Amino acid sequence: MRRYFRCFLFGFFLIFIAVPTFSSPFSGAGTILHDVRPGKGITRVTWLSEWSSPLEGTPADTRVFIADSGKPGATVFIAGGTHANEIAGILSAVLLIENAVPSAGRLIVIPDMNMSASTWTESTKVPSWVRIETPNGPRFFKYGARYTDPVHQGAPDPDRYVHPKGGDALEGSEARNLNRVYPGKPDGTLTERLAWALMSLLKQEGVDIAFDLHEAGPESRLANMIVANPKNLDLAALAVINLEMDGIRMKLEPSSDAFHGLSHREWGDGTKAYAFLIETPNPAQSTENGNPVEDPQYPLAGRIATHLASIGAILDAWNMDCPPDKRIEFDALPDWRAVAASGAGAFLNW
Ligand SMILES: [Zn+2]
Repeated sequence: MRRYFRCFLFGFFLIFIAVPTFSSPFSGAGTILHDVRPGKGITRVTWLSEWSSPLEGTPADTRVFIADSGKPGATVFIAGGTHANEIAGILSAVLLIENAVPSAGRLIVIPDMNMSASTWTESTKVPSWVRIETPNGPRFFKYGARYTDPVHQGAPDPDRYVHPKGGDALEGSEARNLNRVYPGKPDGTLTERLAWALMSLLKQEGVDIAFDLHEAGPESRLANMIVANPKNLDLAALAVINLEMDGIRMKLEPSSDAFHGLSHREWGDGTKAYAFLIETPNPAQSTENGNPVEDPQYPLAGRIATHLASIGAILDAWNMDCPPDKRIEFDALPDWRAVAASGAGAFLNW
């Protein structure tokens, strides 16, 4: 009973800080403080607005966790929560923040890429929070929405959304889909400002390899897929072969030439970064509205393991071919096999 009361209190605390009052879309700097407990590898925590001031004080500003080995090497960027309902990507990013210790190069992680999307829930059929058991007690993570909250966007949805570079006319709500608006702009909607800020980080920090962690419904073509910018497709192909030898079967697809605004396409085209998007199957995104954590066929731990293994395989492929001073190496990383076997909670700090 005491345990439940503690959960209630903790939940109340999170909700209290999660629902700030916004008098107008760009005022009132309220922000969710997600429960992320940095491990010993993290050398600096800052905010994305450091790279683009128009994001400052908005509901989309988000924390950036940097693990710098202090030694030469590659700069690797990882985003979870582009879509705030794709929880395996968020938890994979959190596990890296709480466990990874680079020994060459540096890691930059944003676990909650679209903070506005994490403030609301689009469906009553999915939870607002997910609970992960750890050896010391439960931890809670926000289960948000796919899109920026319309209240924060600063503009009504258009009838149809067409990316500035052209392409198909999409549903108007896609204007609030972070993964349709890259590279964004500094004076645009909140979602465009967010995209612009991330592009600025990738450029200014000289990011070499960038990952965008997603999920899709298990029946989706995208489930268990790596999408790679064409310039780094060979690296992804090598990783997919190595993953298969480890028993993880991932499909591989290059970014579409005609479909603009997606991370793997615009990050790769607009910066020097090799850009990858990784998709795992989330039952809560299926038509049957499954459980996002405890599904017997697609347990959360297994999906996080797939993300971590895919990142690891791509970084191994990078290290095989890069100049000696561009390697990314780690003294500690959350082991994907152990995550699959023991659950994510065994790797969450307390
Ligand atoms: Zn997604």
